[in-house]
Amino acid sequence: MADIIDGRAVARQLDEETKAQVDEMIAAGQPRPGLAVVLVGDDGASQVYVRRKIKGCEKVGIRSIERRLPADTSQADLLAVVAELNADPEVNGILVQVPLPEHIDTRTVLSAIDPDKDVDGFHPVNVGRLSTGTGGIVPCTPLGIMKLIDTVVDDLTGLDAVVIGKSNIVGKPVANLLLDREATVTVTHIYTENLPEIARKADIIVAAAGAPELVKGFWVKDGAVIIDVGITRIMGDDGKEKLVGDVAFDEVQHAKAVTPVPGGVGPMTIACLLANTVQAAKTQLEGGNGTDDYGDAPDRSMFTSKSA
Ligand code: NAD
Repeated sequence: MADIIDGRAVARQLDEETKAQVDEMIAAGQPRPGLAVVLVGDDGASQVYVRRKIKGCEKVGIRSIERRLPADTSQADLLAVVAELNADPEVNGILVQVPLPEHIDTRTVLSAIDPDKDVDGFHPVNVGRLSTGTGGIVPCTPLGIMKLIDTVVDDLTGLDAVVIGKSNIVGKPVANLLLDREATVTVTHIYTENLPEIARKADIIVAAAGAPELVKGFWVKDGAVIIDVGITRIMGDDGKEKLVGDVAFDEVQHAKAVTPVPGGVGPMTIACLLANTVQAAKTQLEGGNGTDDYGDAPDRSMFTSKSA
């Protein structure tokens, strides 16, 4: 039988560590870290997520600042709110809940967040930092996935990892994190041919396709580690709604370890958001990531030639 990785327990432990860090900061006379959550409109699922995030803040001692704006808020007004939060020294993390109403360009808004306060890790500067391995804030779900893998694998060097799904919020960042840990990474997607064969070679499978029970037993080699990121709501045989992952859980019991849905990756996301907020607060106390971290400018003579 495969071990079941208990995401709730790992998230609880991470929350305890985050709370301990907050307590240490307060004891050292530093300001309490603050997270601003901006919600535009009244999308039901977004309201639930925002409530959970605010509850998470209370649990670990982070101050939460809530900005609820009407659905018809203009992009300019939303950008003004982001600018105000960027300038507020009591706000260490800013999270703009997506999806945003259609008249607002999400990319423009997320790019307006100060990269040092971008606790979701979606700002192009943080995406660049992640892909070049130069620090920055790592997106919450991919960070949670790595922490779950770390509970069952000591060293990823040279292991074969297959990521199913290439989204900007899960697939691509998790592939970068696995590469950083010296795994050999194959990123696959809906147009990948022979996916079962590719998956069968993997020591680690990260399934983030949003395709219910896509990964069958015969896709998985003995002893693999499987992280199931997918969450889809379907109607069960009993007529009740249930959540299913991207992995046919009952068929993969020959794996070394697998995450359940629910109770695997899901609980890690908010725990990582809180951890990111405290990390952001500490970075800001030290003067921010700034742009000095990039090292010296490249020698341009490498890219240009002078005519004789
Ligand atoms: P997305 O829709 O942006 O991307 C899906 C990716 O999977 C695409 O690259 C697509 O090419 C690929 N894909 C889709 N069907 C496939 C198939 N049949 N075979 C191979 N590849 C396929 O999705 P996303 O935002 O990355 O989310 C993926 C899943 O993870 C969803 O179920 C989502 O709900 C879940 N999710 C969970 C959490 C969490 O647990 N906190 C966070 C983010 C996403």
